[in-house]
Amino acid sequence: MNILFVGPQGSGKGTQAQIIAKQLHLAHISTGDLLRSAQGELKKEIDAVINSGKLVSDELMIKILKERLSHQDTKNGFILDGFPRNLSQAKALDKIAKIDKVVEIAISDDESVSRLSGRLTCSKCSAIFNTKTNPPKQNMVCDICKSHLKIRADDTEEAIRKRLDIYHKETEQILEHYPDALIRINGEQPIERVTEDILNSLE
Ligand code: AMP
Repeated sequence: MNILFVGPQGSGKGTQAQIIAKQLHLAHISTGDLLRSAQGELKKEIDAVINSGKLVSDELMIKILKERLSHQDTKNGFILDGFPRNLSQAKALDKIAKIDKVVEIAISDDESVSRLSGRLTCSKCSAIFNTKTNPPKQNMVCDICKSHLKIRADDTEEAIRKRLDIYHKETEQILEHYPDALIRINGEQPIERVTEDILNSLE
């Protein structure tokens, strides 16, 4: 099964994608993580775009994604987290893979800003915590791999607002591209309830 997770920044789509991928034995592909792990020449260019809250070019994103989808671990199915971000990426994806379900995790803009201002990310395993809703057991230390947690450079109020603006203008449109596959989940619930709702709706 190939699933897309769509939602505004801070909706918990990354957290849920990690949990659901593990439970259903699917590959979890976060395009944000793919970009953040870029090396060499490309890294500076990509970091500058990400930190400003803008999107990297469709051309580059699709090239990186195509390469990732050619790996063996995606053959049983995958969860795409953060892609497509606009209609042109959705159309490009049509040519690469068949999408079975699209899970939209909905939260308000105010909730998004409030959550992102407390987000902590593990620099090693990409696990996500939140100072308010999901704090790590030990201050700034990842529960899973014990590495140091950090605040993402694009989690400033200005970059968050910019990303929300792009989400409403460009990303929301893609939901209409998948009328038969779309599942809408209320993201303003505890993490376990959201997971439960997603799993029930995928059955
Ligand atoms: P995320 O981790 O999904 O919040 O993504 C962080 C940043 O990576 C975004 O704000 C964009 O700059 C970039 N990014 C992630 N996915 C995409 C995509 N599908 N297309 C273009 N840029 C992306």
